[in-house]
Amino acid sequence: MNPVLSFAGRHVPAICSFAVLAGLFWWGHHTGWRLAKPEAAAPHAASEHWCMEHHVPEGDCILCKKDLGKALTAKEPERHRTSGEDIRFAQIASAEAVGKSGIRVEPVVMAAVAPRMRVTGETIYLPESVARISSRSPGVVRQVLVQVGSTVPAHAVVAVVDAAEVGRAKSAFMQAVAGRVAAQATATRVRASAEGGFRSAAEVQEVDARLRSADISLFDAEQALRNLGFQVECASLANLEPAALADRLRRLGLPEGLDDGGSANLLPVLAPRAGSVTEIRAVAGEAVEVNAPLLVVADTGSLWLSLPVPANRVGQVAIGQTVTFTASGGQEATGTVAAIAQSADQQTRLVTVWARLANPEQRLRVGLFGQASITTGTPVSAAAVPPGAIQFDGDQAYVFVRRTPSIFRSLPVRILARDGAQVAVDRLAAGDEIAVSGTGMLFSATFPERMGAGCTDD
Ligand SMILES: [Zn+2]
Repeated sequence: MNPVLSFAGRHVPAICSFAVLAGLFWWGHHTGWRLAKPEAAAPHAASEHWCMEHHVPEGDCILCKKDLGKALTAKEPERHRTSGEDIRFAQIASAEAVGKSGIRVEPVVMAAVAPRMRVTGETIYLPESVARISSRSPGVVRQVLVQVGSTVPAHAVVAVVDAAEVGRAKSAFMQAVAGRVAAQATATRVRASAEGGFRSAAEVQEVDARLRSADISLFDAEQALRNLGFQVECASLANLEPAALADRLRRLGLPEGLDDGGSANLLPVLAPRAGSVTEIRAVAGEAVEVNAPLLVVADTGSLWLSLPVPANRVGQVAIGQTVTFTASGGQEATGTVAAIAQSADQQTRLVTVWARLANPEQRLRVGLFGQASITTGTPVSAAAVPPGAIQFDGDQAYVFVRRTPSIFRSLPVRILARDGAQVAVDRLAAGDEIAVSGTGMLFSATFPERMGAGCTDD
C-alpha cells in the first residue's frame, strides 16, 4: 500500500478534528469566545446517532434532515422574512449545552438610542485661559506668595526673585537720572550765559547735545526696567532727591510688607491674568532661569477636553455636538464640541476633537483622563440590544433569536445607532428573545461550512 495513502488513511480523522479545532480557535480568537467545555458534547460523540458534521444529535439536525429545517423556516414570522433571504439557524446540541456555552437569552426592550461615539479624553486648558509665569531675569527665588488653589487678580505679585540684573538696572537708572539732572542744569546755565554774550553758539550746541544724550541714556535705563516688568514713571521719579529715589527704586513693584530694607535686586513676578494658581514649580532658594515657568495661573471655570477620534469616524463629529465626560476619578462634566483638527496624526491616524467643558465648581482639573461620549445624532426609537448580542459577518450584523431551547434564528439586522452601552437595530420587536452573550458560538454554528471547510465525516 502506498505509504502516503496509508498515513492519510490512519490520520484523516485526526487531521479533520484538528482542522475543526483550528477553525474554532480562529473564530474564538476573533470573537473573544472561549471554547465550551467538551463534557457537553462528549456523551453524544460516543453515540452512533450523532451528526459529526454539525455537532448535534443526528435525529435533530436541521441541516441534515431537510424536512426539519423546512418546517422551522415555515414557522418564521412574516417580519423575519424578506424575499430572497437565506434563512439560517444556529443549532446547539441541547438546551443544557446552550446554558453551558455561556449563551444567555433576554427579551428585547425598545428604547430611544442616540448615536454616541465613545472615546477616551484628557482635560486641558483653554489655550486663552492659561498663563505660565516665569521670571524675566535669572536669579534665586526669594519667596512664593501664593499656594496651589489660590485665586489671584490680574497683575498680582505671585513671587519675588532676587536677581542681580535688577540691581544693575536700577543702578543704571539712577545714574541716568543723575546724568539727566546734571546735563539739564549745565544746559540751563550755559544758555543763560549765552544770552549775556559770554558763551559761543558752539558751546550752546555742545550742552544741548549732551542733554539729548542724557535723555537717551535715561530712556534706555527706563526701558531696561520696563523690560524686567517694572512700571516706571520717569516724570515722578526724576525730581526726587537721590536718597528718596534710591529708596523708591529699591521697593519698586514690591507689595507692602515684602521690603526687607536691604536688597535692591528684588524682582516681583506678576500674574498677567486673573485665575487660580494650578501649579507651582519653584520654591524659595531655588535658582531660576529666564522663561522657565515658576507658576501656572489659569481660569478653570471652563476647560477643554482633548478627544482623539479615529480618522474614519471623525466625519460623524460636528461642532456643537454634546459631549459628556466622566473622569477616572468619577467627576462628570458636559460640554460641546468646539473644534476639530484639520488633519490626522500621521502615526496614529487619530484626529483631535476639542470640546469645551463647563467647570463651574472647578471640580475638574487639568490632566484628568476619562471616558467621553460624543452624541453624534438624534435618538432613534428601536430595539436596543447590548453589543454582545451582535456578531458581524463582514459588515453584516446578526442577532440570534431563540426559536426552540437549542435553536436560534440567525437574523441579519441593520444597525440604526450605537451608543456604546447599547445598539439600536431594526427587525426586532419587544419581547423577541435574543441571545445577549455567547453569540460567538451561535455565529459559528450558523456557518458550520466555514469551520471544517473541506472536511467530511464519511
Ligand atoms: Zn448534520
